[in-house]
Amino acid sequence: MIYRIAYGLLLAVLLVLPASVIVGQESLSSTQSEMTIHVVQRGENLFRIALGYGLTTDELAELNGIVDPGNIQVGQRLLVPVAGTVAAVPQTHTVQPGETLQSIAALYGLTIDQLAAYSNLVDVNTIFVGQILTIVPAAEPTPLAPEVAVETAPPVNLIHVVQPGETMFRIATSYGLTVNAVASANGISDPTLIDVGQQLVIPGVEPPQLALDLPAPMTGLTMEPLLLVEGQTGELRLTTAVPTTLTGTFLGRALVASSEHNNTLHIILVGVPVFTQAGVYPLQLSVTDESGQRADFVTNLEILPGLYGSEQITLLSDRGDLLDPAVESAEQDLLQRIMATSFTPTRYFTGPMGLPAAAPLISTFGTSRSYNGGAYDRFHSGTDFAGAPGTPVLAAASGTVVLADTLNVRGNATIIDHGWGVYTGYWHQTEQYVHVGDFVTAGQVIGTIGATGRVTGAHLHWELWVNGVPVDPMQWVIQDFS
Ligand SMILES: [Zn+2]
Repeated sequence: MIYRIAYGLLLAVLLVLPASVIVGQESLSSTQSEMTIHVVQRGENLFRIALGYGLTTDELAELNGIVDPGNIQVGQRLLVPVAGTVAAVPQTHTVQPGETLQSIAALYGLTIDQLAAYSNLVDVNTIFVGQILTIVPAAEPTPLAPEVAVETAPPVNLIHVVQPGETMFRIATSYGLTVNAVASANGISDPTLIDVGQQLVIPGVEPPQLALDLPAPMTGLTMEPLLLVEGQTGELRLTTAVPTTLTGTFLGRALVASSEHNNTLHIILVGVPVFTQAGVYPLQLSVTDESGQRADFVTNLEILPGLYGSEQITLLSDRGDLLDPAVESAEQDLLQRIMATSFTPTRYFTGPMGLPAAAPLISTFGTSRSYNGGAYDRFHSGTDFAGAPGTPVLAAASGTVVLADTLNVRGNATIIDHGWGVYTGYWHQTEQYVHVGDFVTAGQVIGTIGATGRVTGAHLHWELWVNGVPVDPMQWVIQDFS
């Protein structure tokens, strides 16, 4: 949600330079101190001006004897109450989980039709979490110097956590600010260098008001990140007023929830498969209380493309048989059986994952791959680390060893179950120090880097699955899903 910096500027004018006329604002003599004058600027209309002073269009029109609210002129002087100038003007609303168009319209005193028109919505049923709705009629923004905005803004109280796919420009504009204003508020010299998970202070912006519209007994729904990305993980948290069980579907898959706090908090880790078409998809959630009463909620989530790129891999001729579809699918089935069909309700991971080796990262997750000149129909399902044979392989988090075996494609492979449907895999090792059933702790040495299986040289391939979906493990090194 956006609060225009006009508020800060207005305060500066009123408090610092009470006698001056700057950017549409001048004060009156002391006998009229509860009123001030607003000079209409280019791009403004009566509705927008009224919003800024906490008035309705009718109230402002009546105060100024305006018969036709659609006909005001640039430079026209309007009488407005000083008290109203503390109202910050939101310009946009970012759709939060649990909100509906109806509840958002009600929050701003708009009709659904108005909100749909301001945001150019074609279909009012397809708003999605993270979508930025415009809650005022289209108007040219008033140019304001960012340094003024930063210096005169009210106390800072909103933190924005950088989401995958976001740029500084996108973040700044979503709050109605300039890139410079956000960068300088955060002491950032190069706005192109921001990281997913980084916390940014948004100057002069209050935390979003929520327009939740959840059916009882659902009381809250959050999602992090707000926008999902192909190949990445998202975390949904649903709270309920009474103990419930949660079921749901997304992308044609049944969701599995971990439940805490006497079954009033449900946590769902959502892995978005690579090759999922970017777009908006429905998320369906159902809760059932102990008496069997059921409540349903459907919302839309946006999936952004992963932009992982592609690469060609050439295997040595004596390893060509490892591209045999029968060999590949038998091994894939084994991984599915281990990592996609069982769910351990206990969480063994705490905080972000550790790196699986003290070694340089040489190939990232998600790239489309062509082997020996074939089609780009496979993708890199993990992250590769280079390391001399014998370099220790470390457990990324605590958990139970559920596979320690020699496979054709993956070589000496270890899989650890971390609970909550989260598994990590370590392929191509030389030595394996753990056995099925062992409980390992975060950072424990479980083997050594090698070149076993379908490889072009010694390296560790590290893989992470979330409820049956291989996802980018490096997101888990940065973000805390525990
Ligand atoms: Zn790999």
